[in-house]
Amino acid sequence: MSADAKPTLAVWKFASCDGCQLSLLDCEDELLGLAGEVEIAYFVEARRATVEGPYDLSLVEGSITTAHDAERIREVRRQSRRLVTIGACATAGGIQALKNFADVGDFVSAVYASPEYISTLETSTPISAHVPVDYELHGCPINKRQLLEVITAFLHGRRPSIASTSVCMECKRRGNVCVMVAHGTPCLGPVTHAGCGALCPSYDRGCYGCFGPMETPNTVSLTRQLKVLGMGDPGVERVFRTFNVEAFEGARAADAGT
Ligand code: SF4
Ligand code: SF4
Repeated sequence: MSADAKPTLAVWKFASCDGCQLSLLDCEDELLGLAGEVEIAYFVEARRATVEGPYDLSLVEGSITTAHDAERIREVRRQSRRLVTIGACATAGGIQALKNFADVGDFVSAVYASPEYISTLETSTPISAHVPVDYELHGCPINKRQLLEVITAFLHGRRPSIASTSVCMECKRRGNVCVMVAHGTPCLGPVTHAGCGALCPSYDRGCYGCFGPMETPNTVSLTRQLKVLGMGDPGVERVFRTFNVEAFEGARAADAGT
């Protein structure tokens, strides 16, 4: 990169709903400022023109669900000086990783009129299962302020300043009354990564874990509490099996020592 050239940013999509890319577009005013600092070289959801790599920073949305995607992410990694994964799909395989715990053939024949045209892997896996990743930003979708912090940090060559605590800490900062203690509402906040600003508990709803497990979750204790609140085994299984199913199943297995 020449002294006066701007760093280049690329945004890539794999198996996903586009919601995390929309979080970047949703930055609006900040995006204008960002456009002054970086060259948005590849972002097909935002602009038609593309600039060839290599790229200084790649943001990757989505999980790997096809053999072609597994090839493509290796090429993206080769083209990227830094690679950051954004969202539950890219960091944990997303809700599509439910197929990792079932027969993918059953899903394909239930969903598609002509299943013979569908070519898919049996699993949905995070990007980090295929290539080295420099940073993982959690959420479904990601929080736009956290996204801007990550981009700014990488442009300035520092680690992003993002708390690895739980949603409970964000509730305390907002002065929320605990929905689980005060109202008996099942809530995954104690084991979920912070980042949303305790959005759901602020509206008297339990957290359903869209930011995935925090660094040191205690899913055994939370499961015990969910059962105290009257949730049976099928309910507990379901509550952990949403957007971050693969990550929560991994955390539960680690907590149980299996
Ligand atoms: S993490 Fe959620 S919002 Fe982001 S692409 Fe995946 S499904 Fe969409
Ligand atoms: S409270 Fe939980 S489910 Fe609600 S937005 Fe935050 S992390 Fe997601």
